[in-house]
Amino acid sequence: MRELLDFVALDIETTGFDFEKNEIIEIGAARYLKGEQKETFSVFVKPLNPVPKFIKQLTRITDQQLAGGDKISDALIKLLEFVGTDLIVCHNTSFDIGFLNAKYLANGFTKLSNRTLDTLDLSRIYLPFITNHKLGTVAEYFQVDLSNAHRAFYDAIATAEILVKLLDFINENIPLKLNHRLLDIASSARNTLGLAGFLELIVDHQKKFALLTKQKPKIHFHNRNYIEHKPEITENVTIEDVFGESGLFAKEFEHYEMRQGQIDMADAILEQYLRDEFLLVEAGTGVGKSLAYLVPSIIYSNQNDNKKIIISTNTKNLQEQLFYKDLPTVSNCVNLPFKATLLKGRRNYVCQKKWLEAAMDMDKLFAPSELRALMNLIVWKEFTKTGDISENSSFNTTRDAGVWKKVSSDSFMCGGRRCPHYKQCYLMDVRKKAEDSNLVIINHHLMLADMTTDFATLGEYEHLIIDEAHNLPQLAQIELGMTISYPDFNNFFNSLFTGKKKYQYGILINLKTAAVKSDFPKKEDFLKKIDEAIKIIDENRDTFADFFRKTREVVEKKGSYGKLRITNMDDHYFLTDYLSQIINFWKDFSRAMLPLYDILSNVNKQKFIEHSQHLESLERIQQKIAETYTNLISLHNPNLENYAFWMETFQVQDENYPSGVLCYCPLNVNDIFNSLLYDRMKSVIFTSATIAIRDKFKYFANRMGLDQREDGFVKELVVQSPFDYSKQALVLVAGFLPAPKDRFFASQSLELIRQSVEISKAGTMVLFTAYKNLNEVYDSLYDEFYAKDISLLAQGKGIGRSAMLKEFRKHRSSVLLGTNSFWEGVDVPGESLELLVLHKLPFLVPSEPIVEAYLEKLNAEGKDSFMHYMLPNALLKYRQGFGRLIRNKTDKGVVLVLDNRILTKRYGRFFKDTIPAKTVIPATELEIYDHLAKWFRN
Ligand code: SF4
Repeated sequence: MRELLDFVALDIETTGFDFEKNEIIEIGAARYLKGEQKETFSVFVKPLNPVPKFIKQLTRITDQQLAGGDKISDALIKLLEFVGTDLIVCHNTSFDIGFLNAKYLANGFTKLSNRTLDTLDLSRIYLPFITNHKLGTVAEYFQVDLSNAHRAFYDAIATAEILVKLLDFINENIPLKLNHRLLDIASSARNTLGLAGFLELIVDHQKKFALLTKQKPKIHFHNRNYIEHKPEITENVTIEDVFGESGLFAKEFEHYEMRQGQIDMADAILEQYLRDEFLLVEAGTGVGKSLAYLVPSIIYSNQNDNKKIIISTNTKNLQEQLFYKDLPTVSNCVNLPFKATLLKGRRNYVCQKKWLEAAMDMDKLFAPSELRALMNLIVWKEFTKTGDISENSSFNTTRDAGVWKKVSSDSFMCGGRRCPHYKQCYLMDVRKKAEDSNLVIINHHLMLADMTTDFATLGEYEHLIIDEAHNLPQLAQIELGMTISYPDFNNFFNSLFTGKKKYQYGILINLKTAAVKSDFPKKEDFLKKIDEAIKIIDENRDTFADFFRKTREVVEKKGSYGKLRITNMDDHYFLTDYLSQIINFWKDFSRAMLPLYDILSNVNKQKFIEHSQHLESLERIQQKIAETYTNLISLHNPNLENYAFWMETFQVQDENYPSGVLCYCPLNVNDIFNSLLYDRMKSVIFTSATIAIRDKFKYFANRMGLDQREDGFVKELVVQSPFDYSKQALVLVAGFLPAPKDRFFASQSLELIRQSVEISKAGTMVLFTAYKNLNEVYDSLYDEFYAKDISLLAQGKGIGRSAMLKEFRKHRSSVLLGTNSFWEGVDVPGESLELLVLHKLPFLVPSEPIVEAYLEKLNAEGKDSFMHYMLPNALLKYRQGFGRLIRNKTDKGVVLVLDNRILTKRYGRFFKDTIPAKTVIPATELEIYDHLAKWFRN
């Protein structure tokens, strides 16, 4: 089939990613006719500016090669002559062709107008199971040689070889019907001319040779959501048998070191299961807390009728680490049978029903701009066993949220057991597995949602472990509250009916179609009520749009950082007015909908087409109406003493979009946890590396309502980290700097960062508390660091968090600037991170609506809100930040604290004392440089 392919593969090397500022230094291309290489093209381009060292290192292009290169305008003309009118193939055309076209225009030429084909697009469509779609990864998958990566000529050849192999792969593994579907979508999508042409080629070929080709797809998704460990011999084991000096882990791992702290933690957990008690455990970095709770959980469940234990984490990363790494470690070593399920919230799973409906109504359901993203789901959906979107490396549920919403499971549209696709449903399947498991690994979002819906998802359970528990109080405030926005209402209305005239579809339209074809009493009334409901929605849609548009306007005018707190409803009459209108709409809508349910429930099932499905849809609508009505009434008469109420906006491209949001969150979650969770649990374990303050759990226990339990019921344990911080880390406090509020702080702290990076020459992470400060530092250092070959990576500067961390780990001596989310969950062991700079003490922003409201509440209760809330919160975050530096026993490094409040404020000593490393307070910047020079010289 490769003989059908004629194209020019192309690649460029540049001095950076900026089309305007950066330059092309090499262009490589190769012409392929009938799938065979015929001609090649390779030129170096003489740059106008010096090439950064890391680019030279990356590409191995020498100054001599560049000095003998062409002028850019000459190179561009030569390339034009070489490619002619051929199809151009690149791996990421938007970069290569975009960059080239910018240079063509800048040099007075016209842009390239050839048809293009992107192997990156093809990889995303056809290889959703590989980890990522970089050229190197795809080349490795197809065993294409890329030993000369990052050289334009070799990358172009590799791109060509990938395309040829990809074609064979598609022909052998992807059935005609799937390619046909992809072709249909590509033909309706935007900017997919080259792609559609390529798919047409495949479809024509497969049609022609359909009888000769025996396709046996070899695509397998190895991801699973269920582990069943069934050892041949089952042994009763103790904690000592597993973790001891010559225990099962010691036998399995050559360099195993027994950690007494880990054993203590595992013992305590087993004991609290047996005693039906709650436990708070702080386990310092390096204790190995995951295994310390997994092993006793399995032992306990085994010895107690396979009792189910739920383990909840804050992040997906930890959830996946537990399931894919830690549990297999246990099953390799321990002869105890167990079943474990990785369960996520329903939004993570594709819905079979919606998927089939979408396939039938593709043109109605998806805008042309959405179809390209839809293509990245087609092959994955055909072969997935779990339906969990996280195994699809090609699809981004945040970027393509609109598409994902239309095909993923959602509670409103889900028929549960009555759904005709129940037996094939991925979500129901994994939930069934969870019911029968000893361990179910979930995240806090799911745990909280389940808790407030009477354990509807997880069923009854009595034992719960909450890891990364320090995040729970704040997360619970948000999750146990509510938000309403225009998309919430609009999506609901769209699911009822959307489209124009004969192209209308949705639940009410389907109901009407079925009613018209059926013969039943009160048919006329029924049809009339459907029309009435549709009319009511039609007439009121604009009110919703106006309301959320007005909300946005008010936030933009009066708010700060996109938020505006509501402290008195009288200050915002528009809110009360609009909420009254919406509540009235809801009443009218309910009055129109209720008779539909009454009539249909009295109709003989045989007399109405798909009676049970329609009845069940109407039930769900009634439920949704009731829930929304209750929420709207709460917002209309808010409890401002116990709830934070605010307006905010979300980012949209269309300025006219109604992007206002109303948020309403409880200030205290302790009562909710006590009544909805603790009262039903036999044991709950809260654990984290930072949950205690000076080894006491008072702050956390208070926020989580654990201090309301009877004395002695909640046990406490602090397990110290096995690291020797006194030798491994040094803390330098720049007490001589002005206070962070001082106008000279920014310039002086910037200088200190600049010099410290230069002197230490170490991998450096600077943690900020605000984007504003991060941006100032980034803008001030970028050019200088670029010229000096120091790679400067910054959050929010076009490169994603995980890619940024990957780069940071790869290049020793690079500098990473991060805010909030980088203070925790970042693991960079070794030389890539040896200098950690903490820009300011990480206090919450007091004007943040939920923080401000909580502070006011504490003050009103006569409590010192700073000591009670702001300080403990900042101390935990500060320890999280410090924890980024030392990740294992051999790590070493320096923490440089730029905030002088650690010395000038009375509370400062708490920060000083909370870090277990030696703290030095140099009197001048020169002393700091001296310390750094000595530390890093050694
Ligand atoms: S049971 Fe729910 S999630 Fe599953 S296929 Fe049916 S509607 Fe979709």
